[in-house]
Amino acid sequence: MPTIKTQAVILKKTDWRDNDRILTLLSPSHGRMEALCRGCRRTKSPLLAASENFALGEYVLFSSNGRLTVTGCMLADSFYPLRQDYDLLKYASYILSVSEIVSRDGEPALELFTLLTRSLSRLAYKNMEPRSVTGAFLLLLAALEGWRPRLSHCVLCGKSFEPAGLPLFSIAEGGAVCRSCPRPLTGVIPVSPREIIWMKDVLLVGIEKTACPPEDTPLRLLMSYIESRLERRPPAAKLIP
Ligand SMILES: [Zn+2]
Repeated sequence: MPTIKTQAVILKKTDWRDNDRILTLLSPSHGRMEALCRGCRRTKSPLLAASENFALGEYVLFSSNGRLTVTGCMLADSFYPLRQDYDLLKYASYILSVSEIVSRDGEPALELFTLLTRSLSRLAYKNMEPRSVTGAFLLLLAALEGWRPRLSHCVLCGKSFEPAGLPLFSIAEGGAVCRSCPRPLTGVIPVSPREIIWMKDVLLVGIEKTACPPEDTPLRLLMSYIESRLERRPPAAKLIP
């Protein structure tokens, strides 16, 4: 099949030669793909907007000798407000980098694609707190990847928690830990009961329906958690306060 037509979002762009770019795309049906986009840095190129980070559209790719070339794109959204607000751009860039690291070549990624594009849309258009949107993205990504944190029982001794008694979190073990745990408490970090409730509620009803306030988002904890599972820290992480 020499031509592929697929929805995709641009995860990464790398300038190539004078006017070209190598694009990393995420497609719901084909997973992560790399494709050459010729001439897209020329100001009059019809692929100029389609070769930017965050661009979402229906891409047409030509396959030859195992290499893909972008030959067309019907752009659906460029999430333009992300480029106008540096604060939003920092969080969106982090989400994009994490998606690039976690996605796999040729492996369908409908759920990740949906989570990513919805998160970008929330940042760009819905005036939602970027820390909460980013935290929810990381938490739901953890669930997708099989790293859903355990929040109702101590991940070390298995004891169930009182609603207000969840003081620690183990990044390595992936869940909450009781402070009086009989197991040795190594590598645990503090987490507040409100942060545990935020995570439980967002997993249950999603970020748009949760009644938990944005300031309860345990963003630092979730960044550390995901980065430990990815064994990588995206460069954009250092931009996030
Ligand atoms: Zn315990």
